[in-house]
Amino acid sequence: MKIYIDGKYYDKADAKVSVFDHGLLYGDGIFEGIRIYNGKVFRLKEHIERFYESAKAIILEILMTKEEMKAAVEDAVKVNERKDGYIRLMVTRGEGSLGLDPASCKKATVIIIVSDIQLYPKEYYEKGIALVTVTSRRIPSECLDPRIKSLNYLNNIMAKLEAKQAGCLEAVMLNTQGFVAECTADNIFIVKEGRLLTPSVYHGALEGITRQTVMEIAEKIGIKSEETTLAPYDLYTADECFLTGTGAEIVPVVKIDGRVIGSGVPGKVTKMLVENFKKYALS
Ligand code: PMP
Repeated sequence: MKIYIDGKYYDKADAKVSVFDHGLLYGDGIFEGIRIYNGKVFRLKEHIERFYESAKAIILEILMTKEEMKAAVEDAVKVNERKDGYIRLMVTRGEGSLGLDPASCKKATVIIIVSDIQLYPKEYYEKGIALVTVTSRRIPSECLDPRIKSLNYLNNIMAKLEAKQAGCLEAVMLNTQGFVAECTADNIFIVKEGRLLTPSVYHGALEGITRQTVMEIAEKIGIKSEETTLAPYDLYTADECFLTGTGAEIVPVVKIDGRVIGSGVPGKVTKMLVENFKKYALS
């Protein structure tokens, strides 16, 4: 494995950043998770756009153009000779002093890791997963816009720990008003009377690239989708439910908080979207 740091490649054991990097000291930085399917980087343009918008939102200057960043990501895939896999692209505020003022950081650190992807075990794609609603809430969008894909994931990590303690692989995270926001690393959708519904960004959802892709695929195959307000009630009474994410792709959900969703098996619409997503990703 060759890891890109600021224009150079390092073996895994030598790929290191300073302990004074504000990415480590404060979680001051941003990231993207991107898939490689069949030798092609999936929706790279969209990931780069979101990445640079996150950077702009936190006043983080990346000393590379979008084109240069795209080329660096593609080069890292080539260097690692990957046909399928996962890319973790990161920019941290860089090395600075112990104070939190980013002014002490002279240059942002750019890191690209090309690796395997850890999906949920295969059986869950066939049978569906169980979710639990946890007490850790999504950070309100008035405090930190959920569109910023920052290196601060502590409350999502807390939610993940709660889910695991409850024997589940993923958690439903609510916003501070009690509406559904998303999961710890995935967006959530329900199917109700043939339509797809997903929480809007204003309720605390990340603008997921897979979420967007699924809505585009749905439109193409004649399924309407809507970003809306969802309460736990809407999840419990949904016909179908599924999660979307770069790593997870589309995962059917069959149980939430011990309640059976729909008929308790992956639904028709979910299966149709999974099939079409596979075709699209491999095309
Ligand atoms: N929500 C959160 C909190 C995430 O970290 C992610 C990415 N793993 C997603 C949703 C899904 O977004 P994407 O489809 O762009 O991977």
